[in-house]
Amino acid sequence: MLDVVVIGAGPVGLAAGIEAQRRDLDTLILEKDALCNSFIGYPTRMEFFSTPELLEIGGYPFATRDYKPRREEALDYYRRVAVAEDLNINLYEAVTDLHGSDGAFTVKTEESTYETRKVVAATGFYDIPNRMDVPGEDLDKVRHYFKEPFPYALTDLAIIGAGNSAAKAALACYRHDANVTLIVRDDAIDDGVKYWIKPDLENRIEEGSIDAYFNTTVEAIEEDVLHLDTPDGPEQLDNDFVLAMTGYKPNYEFLDTLGIAVQDDEARTPVHDDEETFETNRDGLYLAGTVCGGCDTSRWFIENGRFHAEKIVDHISSTLEAEPATV
Ligand SMILES: Cc1cc2nc3c(=O)[nH]c(=O)nc-3n(C[C@H](O)[C@H](O)[C@H](O)COP(=O)(O)OP(=O)(O)OC[C@H]3O[C@@H](n4cnc5c(N)ncnc54)[C@H](O)[C@@H]3O)c2cc1C
Repeated sequence: MLDVVVIGAGPVGLAAGIEAQRRDLDTLILEKDALCNSFIGYPTRMEFFSTPELLEIGGYPFATRDYKPRREEALDYYRRVAVAEDLNINLYEAVTDLHGSDGAFTVKTEESTYETRKVVAATGFYDIPNRMDVPGEDLDKVRHYFKEPFPYALTDLAIIGAGNSAAKAALACYRHDANVTLIVRDDAIDDGVKYWIKPDLENRIEEGSIDAYFNTTVEAIEEDVLHLDTPDGPEQLDNDFVLAMTGYKPNYEFLDTLGIAVQDDEARTPVHDDEETFETNRDGLYLAGTVCGGCDTSRWFIENGRFHAEKIVDHISSTLEAEPATV
């Protein structure tokens, strides 16, 4: 029997694995896709908002060429940490179910089953985009992930949203000769957009280089046009592609499969003790990292989420000492 199964090999899952393994707990990390899979989906040349020391785990220094790390440097860093710690990780093995109870869980994956005393879910939020739920959203030309600007050069591109991802995509695509129109539900660019990005975008809008509709929603998407609901009434916009930068949310279906209840608050926060132990309503099952914030995906990030690992493993160690294994 294992002591701990960690679900998810993002930065926080890796931090939890390191912490557990260093305390001599028999640990397995199960990851449904690649190592640090969320980063693989990020824009190719993405620069992190955080400086490198704030992304470090396990005490390993993260040296970067510039002031902020790039996506590829972060992928290299976390891989090197996983190798240096000799973490026990099974990649491309999705967890599909969880049976049993504290001290004697059975974790089911697509390929196997594992007996473990404790489970930590560090499953993030990047797999499930927030949908607009409008006709045409499933057309090929509508994308919820932005990789790079090149496919959109010389096209009519609508970008939905007003957060950091929308702002960065709009600026990058405009600078690669896309005809960009930003469609914003509220009356301004989000206050949360980073201070070095927001004025750049606002100035491009003011000078007319990027078109913008505020207080506007998309009503329907067709192959060549978008139907908008604007303050001046319905409008049609010529359109080749839509980048719906409408955010992401945790996989609530999976949390439900794990038996984790959800609070009736605006963020739909998964039930867990976020002050001390991070244990959920199901004893012996913990949440770690960005998934803890529910739909409030900016509450926890790597900078603060990496510290969940120590608290969780403190609690796991103390309860395992109190209840020695029977198997
Ligand atoms: C574009 C972008 C930029 C960001 N920049 C920063 C930044 O500069 N600084 C910062 O601190 N934070 C940043 N964040 C926020 C946050 O740090 C990241 O989202 C980070 O990846 C969260 O780490 P995590 O380990 O909690 O989750 P993730 O990295 O998302 O890891 C979760 C893992 O769980 C796996 N998984 C899910 N379900 C299952 C399953 N059923 N079975 C097995 N595996 C499963 C997923 O495949 C994934 O690999 C950024 C986020 C985005 C989207």
